[in-house]
Amino acid sequence: MEKLFALLDENYGEIVRLRRHFHQYPELSFQEVETPKYIADYHKQLGHDVRTGVGGRGVVAKLEGGKRGKTIALRADFDALPIQEERDVPYRSTVDGVMHACGHDGHTAQLLGLAKALNTMKDDLHGTVVFIHQHAEEVPPGGAIAMIEDGCLDGVDVIFGTHLWATDPYGIVATKPGPLMAAADRFDIEVQGQGGHGANPHTTKDSIVIGSQLVTNLQQIVSRRVNPQDPSVVTVASFEAINGFNIIADRATLTGTVRTFNENTRTFIEKEIERITRGTCFAADAMYNYTYSRGYPTLNNDEKMAEYIMEKAKYVPEVTDVHIAEPHMGGEDFAYYLQHVPGAFFFVGAADPDWDVAYPHHHPKFSIYEKAMLLAAKVLGAAVLSYNR
Ligand code: MN
Repeated sequence: MEKLFALLDENYGEIVRLRRHFHQYPELSFQEVETPKYIADYHKQLGHDVRTGVGGRGVVAKLEGGKRGKTIALRADFDALPIQEERDVPYRSTVDGVMHACGHDGHTAQLLGLAKALNTMKDDLHGTVVFIHQHAEEVPPGGAIAMIEDGCLDGVDVIFGTHLWATDPYGIVATKPGPLMAAADRFDIEVQGQGGHGANPHTTKDSIVIGSQLVTNLQQIVSRRVNPQDPSVVTVASFEAINGFNIIADRATLTGTVRTFNENTRTFIEKEIERITRGTCFAADAMYNYTYSRGYPTLNNDEKMAEYIMEKAKYVPEVTDVHIAEPHMGGEDFAYYLQHVPGAFFFVGAADPDWDVAYPHHHPKFSIYEKAMLLAAKVLGAAVLSYNR
């Protein structure tokens, strides 16, 4: 393990260079062209068996060790977000309105750096390592389902993945057995009232008034209908009914998100939103349209593999704190891999000790402490080397 850590230390400059390259040339989900090409070329130069266009835009590379053993998959996502970067750094995004604001540039760079290090010691390596570079993590349906259908998990015994977490201090590794991240769904409601003159409300059915009641009534699902021990969120994220000052809105549209950990609660909330919408619209004699779209499912870590990661993380000198993570209400399509093979997803603290403010993920000033990539690569590497012992 010391040898791998030393090789990674040597590769650190290259990991930083790779990350900054990806950061400069971000590509949106389902539009990635140059990023997967770059990744595939890197693996080809290392002599890895490479498959491109997996599930659309994914890249899968294989490194066979010189000794027998199990097949371990490591996954990193590589898509960016529709955000205008507001940081002024030499490697800032060159693409207007597109930015790596979730650290996927770092995920990709650290995995490539680890691939190179493992390749250097391949003669002594047990088993096979499969590098899964996934497109489109940010936008459901995501890239994972299609990559799995296209065979990226064929022959894989176990899978690990990590997320750099910029609001957690550097040095932390956190995960938990069982549910770690929430199921993330979307709902859309269209309230169809009856528009008219602002001076004559009695001849209309005011969609804004009905929609406002709806926003308020929906708050009661989590606060009054779901068990407080069962974490869940219902957020109305947009409410549109734009009109002139003297017009009563004919229609209002509301969209939002639902986050749950329990499949029964998920179904319950889906039905409850419709029941409340139906009742509220009925009371106002209005019509509605309702759609509920399921996004990523709950991310369920294998119990043993989550404990395994926490144990191996302690071998990494830079790791100062390993603990059980609090479940995140965010969604992650790594969840799909875990429906097929055992494995674990974990968080690596990536806040720069010198920052005054750690901007959250998806913020225009988001960044990561680059040393966290090295730490993450070491934890993944330790997990690979120990697995076949
Ligand atoms: Mn992310």
